[in-house]
Amino acid sequence: MSKANVDLYEVLGIDKSASKDDVRKAYRKAALANHPDKVPEAEREDAETRFKAVQEAYDILYDDEKREIYDTHGMSAFNGSGEPGMGAGPDLDDILAQMFGGMGGMGGMGGMGGMPGGPHARKPRKSPDEEQKYEVRLEDLYKGKTVKFASTKNVICSHCQGKGGKERATARKCSTCDGEGYKQILRPMGQFLSPAMVPCPTCNGAGDYFVDKDKCKKCKGKKTTEAKKMLEIYIPRGAREGDKIILEGEADQVPGQEPGDIVFHIVEEEHETFRRAAADLTATIDVTLAEALTGFSRVVVKHLDGRGIEIQHPKTPGEVLYPGQVLKVPGEGMPIKRSDARGDLYLVVNIKFPDGKWKPSPAVLEQLKELLPKPEPPIQADTVDEVEFDPKGNLDDFGAHDPEGGSAWEDEDEGETTAQCATQ
Ligand SMILES: [Zn+2]
Ligand SMILES: [Zn+2]
Repeated sequence: MSKANVDLYEVLGIDKSASKDDVRKAYRKAALANHPDKVPEAEREDAETRFKAVQEAYDILYDDEKREIYDTHGMSAFNGSGEPGMGAGPDLDDILAQMFGGMGGMGGMGGMGGMPGGPHARKPRKSPDEEQKYEVRLEDLYKGKTVKFASTKNVICSHCQGKGGKERATARKCSTCDGEGYKQILRPMGQFLSPAMVPCPTCNGAGDYFVDKDKCKKCKGKKTTEAKKMLEIYIPRGAREGDKIILEGEADQVPGQEPGDIVFHIVEEEHETFRRAAADLTATIDVTLAEALTGFSRVVVKHLDGRGIEIQHPKTPGEVLYPGQVLKVPGEGMPIKRSDARGDLYLVVNIKFPDGKWKPSPAVLEQLKELLPKPEPPIQADTVDEVEFDPKGNLDDFGAHDPEGGSAWEDEDEGETTAQCATQ
């Protein structure tokens, strides 16, 4: 039967001027007469069709608004569902949700969750890991350290066990996303629209939701609550920059998912005395000129565990220390993880020459000259000029005052060719 041509008044056997009461009475009579249960088996199929037609006629004619639309536009204004103005298939909720997407009109669950987007984003099996940097002092990396701290995280609501609703309440399937938790939107990509999946704004990616009165009182439908927990991490001795310390399952809990991990990425704090490379350490030690020449026996540096490191110099009488000389101390570097081995310590010698406070008498200087090694034989030259000098010269000035243009030094960024051309 062609629905577009059907006359609803005729189906019910009433006049166009029939009152609402007439419609109701006519419907009852027709429904009873055509009820599939009341007819012989052979007539059942026909009866069913007629029964549906009667039902539809009543749905439209008994509703003032729909009856007016029918009277004005005829059956073409309706589809099979008896609802005016739309194609077959989607229900009103879907259409409203598409029109008012982000407004969360069906249950007040507004706001986007922290769900990952992207076309393949589905509910992950495991909730996301929490990655964070953790700055550690070199002393703590040397000795190892246990750190306790309070952490606030989302845990499954203890009242509703993550259901989000009251005990007997049932969640409503989200019609915005048809229970998928995600919906497809069209995103502008250049001049085209490209489909992308985003967490459903109506149900927050859950696929269903509770109406306000059914929501769990404790978590207010969020399924999780905030909880403080004491966490403890152990930084093993010898740990280094980039190492990860993993607290399994301590990330935010998400209902229906394995909780993710908290992952600490170790960042080594800069140390004022020591520098580290792999398992080795280096430090600069200050040695006076007298010590460099005559030897010494004393603590030169305080190690990361507080021990004084003592050096006796020289081993062979008469040996002197030179500026920049390196004393390698085996086995005094950083511990190597899961072993008793250690790296080495490299001590770089800085000779402290006497400063302005040193006022030796001419007699003392004469003695020193006698005691210290004599200069090389004099340089032979035909003519000799005695010159003035600035005792505070600076090599930064070296080449900076080129009389031929003077810009050669500033151009050094452009590479060697410029410098070479300028000097040729
Ligand atoms: Zn709850
Ligand atoms: Zn949804």
